[in-house]
Amino acid sequence: MQQDNGRKENGKAPRRKFRAGWWYVAAALVAMLLYFLKDYRSSSPRPIIWNDFEKNILARHAADSIDVINGEVAEVYIKNELADDPFFRPVMKPRGGQRINAGPHYSLAIGSVESFERKLDDAQKGLAPENKIKLGYSKSTHPFINLISWLLPLALLFFLWRQLTKSYGSPGGDSMSPFGFGRSTATLQKKEDTSNVTFNDVAGLEEAKQEVKEIVDFLKAPDIYTSLGAKIPRGVIIVGPPGTGKTLLAKAVAGEARVPFFSLSGSEFVEMFVGVGASRVRDLFRRAKEEAPCIIFIDEIDAVGRSRGKNAFFSGANDERESTLNQLLTEMDGFGTNSGVIVLAATNRADMLDPALLRPGRFDRHIYLELPDITERAAIFKVHLKPLKLGGEMIEPSFLAAQTPGFSGADIANICNEAALFAARRKSSIVEKRDFLDAIDRVVAGLEKKNKIISPEEKKRVAYHEAGHAIVSWLLRRVDPLVKVSIIPRGKSLGAAWYLPEERQLRTAETFTENMCAALGGRAAEEIVFGEVSSGALDDLEKVTKEAYRMVAYYGFDRKIGPISFYDSASSTENAFQKPYSEDTGRMIDEEVRKVTGDAYQRTTSILQQHRPELDALAKQLLEKETVYKEDLELLLGRRVL
Ligand code: ADP
Repeated sequence: MQQDNGRKENGKAPRRKFRAGWWYVAAALVAMLLYFLKDYRSSSPRPIIWNDFEKNILARHAADSIDVINGEVAEVYIKNELADDPFFRPVMKPRGGQRINAGPHYSLAIGSVESFERKLDDAQKGLAPENKIKLGYSKSTHPFINLISWLLPLALLFFLWRQLTKSYGSPGGDSMSPFGFGRSTATLQKKEDTSNVTFNDVAGLEEAKQEVKEIVDFLKAPDIYTSLGAKIPRGVIIVGPPGTGKTLLAKAVAGEARVPFFSLSGSEFVEMFVGVGASRVRDLFRRAKEEAPCIIFIDEIDAVGRSRGKNAFFSGANDERESTLNQLLTEMDGFGTNSGVIVLAATNRADMLDPALLRPGRFDRHIYLELPDITERAAIFKVHLKPLKLGGEMIEPSFLAAQTPGFSGADIANICNEAALFAARRKSSIVEKRDFLDAIDRVVAGLEKKNKIISPEEKKRVAYHEAGHAIVSWLLRRVDPLVKVSIIPRGKSLGAAWYLPEERQLRTAETFTENMCAALGGRAAEEIVFGEVSSGALDDLEKVTKEAYRMVAYYGFDRKIGPISFYDSASSTENAFQKPYSEDTGRMIDEEVRKVTGDAYQRTTSILQQHRPELDALAKQLLEKETVYKEDLELLLGRRVL
């Protein structure tokens, strides 16, 4: 069946046409005005210059009266008895008729009123006052010009207002309304077109799914719960690092329950106008209640839900955000537990949220999502491999999961897509294993830049640098196993070493130290071989310094500082200027950090000095082959002792 696309589903005429109609009316009005003005011109007084006026009118005493308009133009009325005078006839009896034109008959531009009066007086010297020309002054314009002068600004204001309401009004809302600013910008997915996302599309996250299934059941059959006197949570907050599937989970809830789904981002509440946020919250809840049962999904709720007053010192208490938050709290308190509106919110900064938001009765259920572990990653790969056209070697999701520790669900989705793009670039009709490996490398280290210009000396330095990393990490058993090392430039870096991080939650002090040594391996190798260091170790040094500070000041690994942690989980950034330790302790921390890194550097240097032949051999291999794999290292250094 053919559908009329111009009509909205609710049957209202589309606004576009209405707007076009307005433009037609405006155009017609302008045309009419122009027509009248033209007409007015044709019967307007004939312009005359002073010389002609003096010679033909003043000298003959033909003028009956003169009206000075706005101090600029003198409009001259000729005596009626001169209507048949050959000079005046054309203006007094236009179009050859008998009717005398009432005037004004001539218009004379005058420089200034004073000079005009003086000239007039001079010309009429000696005349009796009753014979002198009657002189009047008036301030007048044509009625249409008058009309325009007040209509135009009004029309301008009207259009300005329309533009503003149009740009701030909600997409679906009534943009003619002056209150369009305060409309919520949430997009609504109707029941019929709710996302087809179901729990099957969400891999892993079993506990989280279990929690939200209850909500789905409630939305499907609220009576079972209400008849038992049970109350369903009004709000569920989903906390987790970016890309762990928070939005996906919320969509799956809506998809499973088959209810309308309002989704918006927390930052959409906050506008530059005061009061807009609060009114948007009100509008959102009003719309939601109309559609109940339904789900409101607020992404990045920390944009509005940040602790009130915490940042007052820096940002000068953001009243607008606070009033928005207050309104949100009020609305959440306001609707009945069983009204069928459930608010899902997502954030990756739960620590920033206002405690009032998290108390029971508001967002009383919290779901924590973590980065997926190896089995969950395999499950996510399985979901995202489904739409791809695979071929060639068998691609095991578990193999890919093992290659991608620390990756989020979004990263995995991205890798699958990148793999398909790599296959397309190869003009292949299927996606193969190598495409996945390339995609993983690309996500980890950036795209290969094979044609980056690097001088042979630089290449040699890079080879030694990477060989240094590889050898030190190979010989220290607590460092993650090396997969490969390459001197092909990627992204910003000139070379890279790939490790396969192990899935572990705890790291000992020695693990930290050994990882520091591995990171310093590049610089140490450069120093040993070339006798001078280069700027290429910047990233390594940054990492090492941060790790060292963490070891000393956070994890209490340092003997001299003792088992003390200056880490403050509650406020990571707010109190950045207030150090929780004395100057002496600060100095001691700095000294210890220097010592820790210095020791690690020395250890690295001695390892490399002991294995100088292997270092040279590996660097040579790298220069020849560009990429060296684990197997080559095994040949060179023997199996890794674990
Ligand atoms: P966020 O937590 O930042 O809201 P999203 O839910 O937007 O993350 O996830 C982004 C994308 O990552 C999703 O569209 C989906 O393709 C993929 N993804 C994330 N987690 C999972 C998962 N558990 N199962 C399947 N796909 C996932």
